[in-house]
Amino acid sequence: MRQKLVAGNWKMHASQQMVTSLLEKMLSKQAPSAKLLVFPPYPYLSQAIQILAESNIGVGAQDCSQAEDGAYTGEVSATMLADLGVSHVLLGHSERRQYHSETDASVVEKAKRALAAGIIPVICVGETLAQREAGETNQVVSQQLTPLVKQLSLAQLQKVVVAYEPVWAIGTGLTATPEQAQEVHAFLRSLVAKVDKALAEKMLFLYGGSMKPDNAASLLKMPDIDGGLIGGASLDADQFLAIGKAA
Ligand code: 13P
Repeated sequence: MRQKLVAGNWKMHASQQMVTSLLEKMLSKQAPSAKLLVFPPYPYLSQAIQILAESNIGVGAQDCSQAEDGAYTGEVSATMLADLGVSHVLLGHSERRQYHSETDASVVEKAKRALAAGIIPVICVGETLAQREAGETNQVVSQQLTPLVKQLSLAQLQKVVVAYEPVWAIGTGLTATPEQAQEVHAFLRSLVAKVDKALAEKMLFLYGGSMKPDNAASLLKMPDIDGGLIGGASLDADQFLAIGKAA
């Protein structure tokens, strides 16, 4: 039985005041059975880690550098994140692929850095609307996931979480139907099963894209949907916890 994971990607939204009020509100309510994670922007990681220190809520970063260390102005290494107490890192989010030239190759390199630092990579894959309409969804997500499956060892892959985020559903209010999402999740799991069936059964596949309290339960009850990666609704403690409870 895979434990459900509900993660909040705050993207570029935060202030010191907002971090304290959002997280303290979350802590004041009853914890859901799903494991919760939040992904604040870099400057607020320490603050979030401190506030959540006595809780079961983990803290992740939204990216890390492909390089180990050195002259890379503006970059943040996986070892720095581990040093702060960060447990997870998002890699290959479609916004980073679109605006920051993230490639499948750089995602693999970053995943290796994260794993070497003891951080769990959460790898995002997903097709655009044009690709879905052209019937290319499986081909696109396969191209995004396969380099990882091929280049990481089984021991490394065991620690990886995958998030399926159809680009057309992100921040648009459009959600994949539970059946559409389930179909892609089952396909992604089958790609891992080609390498190791037992590993594929254990691996977590999260859905992301306009997941809200009112559509979460129908998505999260699908057999291959192991949790959610939540954008907008993760900025509201009640909505985020409601999704956690639906899991
Ligand atoms: P929304 O939930 O705002 O659509 O964002 C999803 C997302 O991109 C999470 O990484």
